[in-house]
Amino acid sequence: MTTLVDLQAMIERFGGSLIIGEFSRDLEAPFNRDVGLDYSDKIIYAKHSNVAPTAVIHEMGHVFASDQEPFVCDEVAFLGWEYALSQEVGLVKEFKEEISKSYNFGWDMLQTLTTLEEIYPSIEMKTHVRGQLNTGWVKTIRANHLSDSLQSRVLGHLLTQCEIKGLVKNGKPIAIR
Ligand SMILES: [Zn+2]
Repeated sequence: MTTLVDLQAMIERFGGSLIIGEFSRDLEAPFNRDVGLDYSDKIIYAKHSNVAPTAVIHEMGHVFASDQEPFVCDEVAFLGWEYALSQEVGLVKEFKEEISKSYNFGWDMLQTLTTLEEIYPSIEMKTHVRGQLNTGWVKTIRANHLSDSLQSRVLGHLLTQCEIKGLVKNGKPIAIR
C-alpha cells in the first residue's frame, strides 16, 4: 500500500517537498482542509499521516503538472496526470473513488467518448438529463453516474490528453515546473 512517505520521496524527486503536520490555515486546499499547498515554493502539506494519499496526489497535480495558480486553474486539465501517477503507485481504485465523489465531466468531452444511452440506460433518466443539457445551464455529468469501465475510458482519454500536452511521457507523470 502506497503511503504518504512513498509519495514524499516522489515529491522530492520532482523537486518539491511534503510536510506532514499542522500548517497555516491560509494554505488549506479549498475542498479538503487536511491538505494544503504552497504553489510557488512547491510545498505540499498533509495535516497528519492518515491523510488519504489520493488527496496528496491531487495537490501534486497542482504543483507539478499545472502552470496555472491553483485558484484559477482547470482542475480537469491535469486529471490524466493524476491518473498516470495513481497507476504508477497502485492506487487506481482509491483514485476512482475520489473522482466519483467530487468530479463532474463536461458533456462536450464526454460525448466524444460515449452516448447518453450508455450512461443512462433508462429512457426516463436519459430524457431528463438530455433536457437539462439542452437548457444550457447544465453542461456536465457527475462522475459517479459513469460506470467503472466508462470512467476508465474517460480517464484514459484524459491521460492521452496529458501525453499530448507533454505532462506524461511513456505513461509516467513528469514534473513540468
Ligand atoms: Zn484542486
